[in-house]
Formats: sequence, structure tokens, C-alpha cells
Amino acid sequence: MLSFTPHLSKPTPPTPTTLWSHPTHPHPTYPTKRHHFSQLTNNRKLSITAIDAAQPFDYEAIVSNQLFQSNKLKIAIVGFGNFGQFLAKAFKRQNHIVFAHSRTDYSHIANSLGVSFFQDPNDLCEQHPDVIVLCTSIISTEPVLRSLPIQRLRRNTLFVDVLSVKEFPKNIFLQVLPTHFDVLCTHPMFGPESGKDSWKDLGFVFDKVRIGEGESRKSRVDKFLDIFEKEGCRMVPMTCAEHDRYAAGSQFITHTMGRVLEKLDLETTPINTKGYETLLNLVENTSSDSFDLYYGLFMYNKNAMEQLERLDLAFESLKKELFGHLHEVLRRQLFGKVEEAGQRRVLSKLPKNGYALPAPSSDAVKSQNN
Ligand code: NAP
Repeated sequence: MLSFTPHLSKPTPPTPTTLWSHPTHPHPTYPTKRHHFSQLTNNRKLSITAIDAAQPFDYEAIVSNQLFQSNKLKIAIVGFGNFGQFLAKAFKRQNHIVFAHSRTDYSHIANSLGVSFFQDPNDLCEQHPDVIVLCTSIISTEPVLRSLPIQRLRRNTLFVDVLSVKEFPKNIFLQVLPTHFDVLCTHPMFGPESGKDSWKDLGFVFDKVRIGEGESRKSRVDKFLDIFEKEGCRMVPMTCAEHDRYAAGSQFITHTMGRVLEKLDLETTPINTKGYETLLNLVENTSSDSFDLYYGLFMYNKNAMEQLERLDLAFESLKKELFGHLHEVLRRQLFGKVEEAGQRRVLSKLPKNGYALPAPSSDAVKSQNN
């Protein structure tokens, strides 16, 4: 609502004090929209009072409305490392406006990608992004989120995370963010290596944890998800708990095997089989990820420990199976056929480290002797 009050007093040059003078609000502070200022027109002083609502001269409101209608989002990436930069390229490809903030100064890289970089998180938040994408390491998520000046954001900003574990960021978001912020938890099931050529058919897991009422909020989250759909991702709606259960048995195992193989320093040979090529690719895919990422998969997914123990047991049991066969072959050579039955009894009766080894079948022993 606007009210115009003509005054016939002599014009006074506008100063910051006269521009913001108000009988009850002598020093209005951001982000109050109750403004009162003076305007000089035809030697007459007009008082204009703007109350609450966005006014036609509110440039930011106009621009943000135009952006909304153009399907463009203002996306702020917090944590502009390896994966943050990778995502930024796709956001830019689809003509969104992209801001970034990180502990390290990435302004050069940001410039080259057409992204505006803000060293100070206050400046980032004052851009009033529609979406904040948290892309920091898993282990730094909580301190980074808590350090953001969220009071400078619009009240219904959408928070998204892309962490490789899901229950942990969901709980942090719900603890730290006031209820007027929307929350979307996601996990692109690919990285800068596996998704370097295309995202076609690569999985994208998401959980709309908290999306407030109102068409604009629903449409904003859909526009964000649309970015991944347009890139060809296989969209997988799934709860954070389900994700963590599946991911421990698949992604954590994959990364662990990749890191174990990396320690073996495998080299390509002139006689690589297809299987061996797959192993070399696995090492390449996983070794380019930071150790922080791998450690985060272990520490912040409660199902990971069980999978690590299962891997250990599986390896031990495989070794025992091999050594069991070998043992039987040796005993047969030493004591002949007569000993075979007795030897097998000994093997199955003598528990090692507290449990019995599985006895190899006599067929398998025969085939080894031939
Ligand atoms: P990362 O090592 O997991 O994270 C690196 C990012 O975290 C950088 O932006 C870094 O900022 C920031 N960071 C680390 N410690 C920090 C601290 N103490 N304070 C503030 N910021 C800190 O490697 P990433 O590959 O870039 O992964 C980022 C996120 O994406 C992770 O949560 C990961 O789970 C997820 N993700 C990764 C992939 C992948 O394939 N790489 C795939 C899906 C999801 P500076 O660079 O400024 O130091």
C-alpha cells in the first residue's frame, strides 16, 4: 500500500537520514520492508510509505519473479571442490544462475565456469538463492551448515544435500534449519569420473524430506529435480534409511574393494582379460575420490561396519576353503587313498580358531589329483 503526502516546505537535499526518516522507525534495519522516504518533485516534497508488500519499484522482487517464470533457478553451491564444480557445469549447461562458496578461494575456476564465487558466506546468502546445495565433505557437513548465516536467506529457501550418505544429513538439516526452510536430500549415484561423458541412465536418489505448502515451493523442488531428469538420470525416489541400507551393501563395498586393489598397485599387462580391465577401471573410479569421502561412507552410515565385517569373514572363509582343498591333496599324496576318509574326518573334526572348516567334496579332490 502506498500513501503520498504533499508538503509545501522548501526542498532539502536528500541525505541517508532524510531518505530513511520515519517518526516511529528512525533507523529501519534490513530486512524490514516498512520504508518511509522523501522524494522531490516540482519543488514539492512527497512522502512515500511502502508497507510490507513487495512494491513495483522493488527491483529484486521483479527480477526474482521473472526468473521464476523463466524456469531458471538461482542455485548456490556450498563446497566448491571436486563434486561441487562437477555439478556446477550441469547447472550452467541448463542456464541456471549459479553462485558458489567454499573454504578455499576458487574464484578463478568459478570465473571460467560462469559461476559467481563468494568467499564470504554472508555475501552468498544475500544473493537470496532459491536453492542452497550443500556439497561439502560428509565429515564437515555439520560445522559448515551451522556456520551459514541462514538469517540472511529468504525464509523458504530450499536446502539440498548431495552427500553419499543420507540419514546423517537429513537429521542435521532437521535439527539445524528452522521449519520454514524446505529440505530435499539427494544422492547422485555417480561422480566426475563415472559421469564425465554423460549422465544418461545414471541413478539419482532423492527424498523430499520437507517441502512446505504452496504451489511455488512444490514447483521449485520439481524444477531442481528436473535438472537431473533432463540430463537423462534414472530418478529413484527412496527414503534416506533405505538408501543407506542399499548403499552400504553396494557403494561402500565397491569403494572398499577399489581401495584394497589400489594398495596392490595393479598394472596393465599385454594379456589383460575383460575381468582384469574391470578391476583396473574400478581402481581408477574410486581412487580419484578423496579419503574424506570414503571415511564418510564408513563413519556416517551405520550399516557400513557390518558390511566391513562381512567382507572380512568372506575373505577368511575363502582362504579356508582354498587351504582346505590343498590340505586334502597333500594328505592324499602323503598317506594314499586309504587315508582319504580318515583325513576328511580329521579336517572336519579339528576346529581352527574356534570353528570347523568345511570339508571339500571328494569329487573336487579327485579332479585336483587328475
Ligand atoms: P569431499 O572430499 O567429500 O569434499 C570436498 C569438499 O568439502 C570441498 O568443497 C571442501 O572445501 C569441503 N570441505 C572439506 N573439509 C571442509 C571443512 N573442514 N570446512 C569446510 N569445507 C570443507 O570430495 P567431493 O568429491 O568434492 O564430494 C563432495 C560431496 O559430494 C561429498 O559429500 C560426497 O559424499 C558427495 N558426492 C561425491 C561424489 C563423487 O563422486 N565425488 C558423488 C556423489 C556425491 P574446499 O575445497 O574449499 O577445501
